[in-house]
Amino acid sequence: MFVPSYIKLHEINELRKRVEKAYEILKGCKICPRQCGVNRLAGEKGVCQVGKLPMVSSYHPHFGEERPLVGRHGSGTIFLTFCNLLCVYCQNYEISHLGEGSEVSIDELTKMMLYLQKIGCHNINFVTPTHVVPQILAALPHAIEGGLSVSLVYNSGGYERVETLKLLDGVFDIYMPDFKYAHPAVAKRFSKARDYPEVAKAALREMHRQVGDLVLDEDGIAQRGLLVRHLVLPDGLAGTREIMRFLAQEISPNTYVNVMDQYRPCGQAHKYPPLNRPITLKEFQDAVNEAFEASLRRLDGITV
Ligand code: SF4
Repeated sequence: MFVPSYIKLHEINELRKRVEKAYEILKGCKICPRQCGVNRLAGEKGVCQVGKLPMVSSYHPHFGEERPLVGRHGSGTIFLTFCNLLCVYCQNYEISHLGEGSEVSIDELTKMMLYLQKIGCHNINFVTPTHVVPQILAALPHAIEGGLSVSLVYNSGGYERVETLKLLDGVFDIYMPDFKYAHPAVAKRFSKARDYPEVAKAALREMHRQVGDLVLDEDGIAQRGLLVRHLVLPDGLAGTREIMRFLAQEISPNTYVNVMDQYRPCGQAHKYPPLNRPITLKEFQDAVNEAFEASLRRLDGITV
């Protein structure tokens, strides 16, 4: 029977130490690469606009995620409010930029996890967790003592500090980061993060070091490993070819990748042509071909 890694960490009392280390970082916040330096424990807020307590927009079983996460009973998503990346075209703009949601206590976050497990979800899927890593860690011991036993999914934009990811080693069994851009100028223009490509590469290397390639159980449900999402942007702006080559050559040719076709102009996208239009069928087909040309074969929803 599958036992999530965090159980062991809790048994040896390491989880509590990680919580303490993570909260220490909040005093001059360097949780993410923005490194704002604000004291979030005193209520100060940086780029992500979240202070001491986490904010949640919604929590429910989600059937629109990748097939290995959804299974029969859904992925137990908890949508965290605000974000550390803030892309101008964000597909969840109201939540990430406008702050849809409300503050919750650590106890409430614990109860959300246990509720999602109770109704049969295959995993607890934290959407946009980067800026609230300490608070998620703080909720986990209580959830374990309440019987939590499903995998945790770290569903992020890929803009992560390796130092913070190391606090999650043995906590999350499934990492599902985006890899959004291959080129610094594009990352700067759309996400104010010129260093995104190098930061995301280092983050993906660390995630893969921790959990390896994606492993499924006999029912096709994800147990442990790395899934990478890549949203295809108009006019090849995401740099799909370079990203697929990186994944195949420097992470693993067995990397499970979701090449996503659902780009829609949201948020401020209308001010940034060609982001003011959806992608074409040809642009998506070209992106999938680039993944195949890089020798990637585990593409979500695409049979070889
Ligand atoms: S988590 Fe938020 S406050 Fe902390 S460094 Fe990142 S953006 Fe700044």
